[in-house]
Amino acid sequence: IHLNKATFTISAPDIRRLPADSGIEVAFAGRSNAGKSSALNTLTNQKSLARTSKTPGRTQLINIFEIAENKRLVDLPGYGFAKVPMEMKKKWQKALGEYLEKRECLKGLVILMDIRHPLKDLDMDLIQWAADSDLPVLALLTKSDKLSQGKVSAQVLAVKKQLATLNADIKVQAFSSLKRTGAVQADAIICQWFQD
Ligand code: GDP
Repeated sequence: IHLNKATFTISAPDIRRLPADSGIEVAFAGRSNAGKSSALNTLTNQKSLARTSKTPGRTQLINIFEIAENKRLVDLPGYGFAKVPMEMKKKWQKALGEYLEKRECLKGLVILMDIRHPLKDLDMDLIQWAADSDLPVLALLTKSDKLSQGKVSAQVLAVKKQLATLNADIKVQAFSSLKRTGAVQADAIICQWFQD
């Protein structure tokens, strides 16, 4: 499995428009602006696979990228975006919730969090849900280039410590799209999920 084989398949506003629920999907989720699109582009080695645009309504679809036959990366709608009308928010969160609840082929969840502000309420809700659902999680602490090496280590340790209490399959990795920090490690974990 090579993530750089990713090709865009479809953007869907809700789960009814997605490809058949078979094979393996690994989904990416995170607060808006956490660095999800940048991480997808870094991990697939493709500059503009996922759009890093902040225009509401554009990044808020479920985007599917095929890696190999019946193996897909899924870019889920960002959550926690402050500056959009309530109605739009509800619609997006509905697509996100439905995907997580109903998608049988979901085998791993990558959760993107800014290393400077990890484990916000909505992040914890998602991580707790994954733990309860026995879904393996990779927590990528993004934009690690913004902190000193010492602070990065301290944050990784603090996040690991807090998540250890959940007793679930949760891995924590510092990540920078700018410097490619953690890209090899994240790639290995995601490719393992596609093999299982
Ligand atoms: P998304 O909303 O989660 O998809 O986030 P984006 O990938 O669009 O990134 C949001 C903002 O953070 C953009 O301005 C990016 O340039 C910036 N960003 C993303 N990843 C990194 C990183 O690794 N380092 C730095 N310094 N900035 C980043």
